[in-house]
Amino acid sequence: MSPVEASYADVIVVGGGSCGAVVASRASENPDCRVVLVESGPGPSSDGTYPPEIIDAHVLPVGPSSPWISTYRAELTPEITRWISRGRVLGGSGAVNGGYFVRGRPRDFDAWPASWSFDDVLPFFLQSETDLDISGEWHGRGGPMPVARTPRGVQNEITKLFHDAAITLGYPGDPDMNDPTSACGIGAVPLNVVDGRRVNTAAAYVLPVLYRSNLDVFTETTALAVLFDGTRATGVEVVRNGRVSRVIAPSVVLCAGAVRTPQLLMLSGVGPADHIAELGVPVVLDHPFVGREFSDHPEVGVHYRAPLPFEPASPLQEVLHVDDLEIRPYTAAFDRLIPGLPIGDPMIGVGLMRSDSRGDITLVSADPMVAPIVKYRYLESVGDRRAVQAGLDRVAELLGTLSRRHPIEVLEVRGDPLLSRLGTSLHLSGSCAMGNDNGVLDDRLHVQGIEGLMVADTSAFPVVPTRGPHATAVMLAERAADFLSASMT
Ligand SMILES: Cc1cc2nc3c(=O)[nH]c(=O)nc-3n(C[C@H](O)[C@H](O)[C@H](O)COP(=O)(O)OP(=O)(O)OC[C@H]3O[C@@H](n4cnc5c(N)ncnc54)[C@H](O)[C@@H]3O)c2cc1C
Repeated sequence: MSPVEASYADVIVVGGGSCGAVVASRASENPDCRVVLVESGPGPSSDGTYPPEIIDAHVLPVGPSSPWISTYRAELTPEITRWISRGRVLGGSGAVNGGYFVRGRPRDFDAWPASWSFDDVLPFFLQSETDLDISGEWHGRGGPMPVARTPRGVQNEITKLFHDAAITLGYPGDPDMNDPTSACGIGAVPLNVVDGRRVNTAAAYVLPVLYRSNLDVFTETTALAVLFDGTRATGVEVVRNGRVSRVIAPSVVLCAGAVRTPQLLMLSGVGPADHIAELGVPVVLDHPFVGREFSDHPEVGVHYRAPLPFEPASPLQEVLHVDDLEIRPYTAAFDRLIPGLPIGDPMIGVGLMRSDSRGDITLVSADPMVAPIVKYRYLESVGDRRAVQAGLDRVAELLGTLSRRHPIEVLEVRGDPLLSRLGTSLHLSGSCAMGNDNGVLDDRLHVQGIEGLMVADTSAFPVVPTRGPHATAVMLAERAADFLSASMT
């Protein structure tokens, strides 16, 4: 057998998604730090341009034949199984997502380690963004990610009707969802979208610095396992075009996303010892909470028919926050938003933003190319079921009010109203969480008990924030790069 080829770096970042792109770009700001970024999926073409479906914020390229995603079998409840998607392209899930880019709320960070209070994380939110609409102390000015809202004048009809119905019912307006006092109300969502173009983190952070001689980006390259010397990470084994090689580095940062990062850790011998040993993987360190206790936002849809023109738009222009619910008036039916889906009806989504359910990711094979199984355990608690039902009641009231201005037919549900329309927001978080007792990671994102190995993606969140996770993911990646650079000086 020929020896496996090896290359050397100071930092290897695994996964060029929403977080990995940020970590690699920031780490390579130090010209003495040699950074390798490996990404399973493709990148933009050689002239640096992405195809229209990755750029066009009016569509999510996650349909059945999309080449830009991985799909996973997910059990939402023991009876309900769905296929969920994650981005598999330079830019990751943020390259195929809804473009809704709102920060976690200050109280979300109460569940994080003490060194992650809102005051601690605010500078990293600020440095990640340039707010094109709102200035002031809460908004960034020089960061790579643009933040903009859809002005009222160009919002589509359903958004306007929904907004007016909410105001008629006495919900307050919420003009700035990134203001830390934003809590309840209806308002325009911050979007990482400019002129209808979705700006992913690879486009914002990596493509402009590809000229750096200390940064190598390898697309269509998949990490198979982290390499160890005892309990010290020494690099990563990767495969490209069927050829296996090694990247040796004293710092390994896993940014493979909240499904693949725990899978990769377990395949590398770090995880629940019984589970990984059963599959024949030699155990490096027993870490019972790898892949365990993740959280997400269940969503239940209310479908309707209304004579409204189709106007291409970002999937969400406004949302209503009330209690721990996010009520989402999608701008079009999902078949219009996601190419390749069968024709369907538009819907209002009820997202439960603080849910009791905790899920698990488990391996089914020691083969890295075989996807793990994702179990959500949605709506098991009476509290969660009541909260979603309360959201559905609010939607019924909103649609009743809206129907006084515009004809609308709410479609009957066959079967259990919660379960038959149950979905997930695809905000999976916390599958290798930071924390004290059960934490897989310490509060500087290092895998506890292992040297030289960090996790910097939404797996690291102690719990999913009560808002969409994308902006919080980018903040975490900014901070991870800061930790990395401090550890190198
Ligand atoms: C369809 C969809 C819509 C969404 N809409 C929104 C929204 O509007 N607002 C919001 O806030 N959030 C949204 N989200 C969630 C948000 O996009 C994600 O939470 C966020 O992008 C996750 O970032 P990440 O860096 O943790 O993972 P990802 O961005 O998924 O990045 C992981 C990367 O690692 C790569 N990878 C995986 N395994 C390997 C390996 N072994 N070797 C090399 N590379 C590997 C993957 O290909 C991927 O590019 C959405 C998600 C989806 C899927």
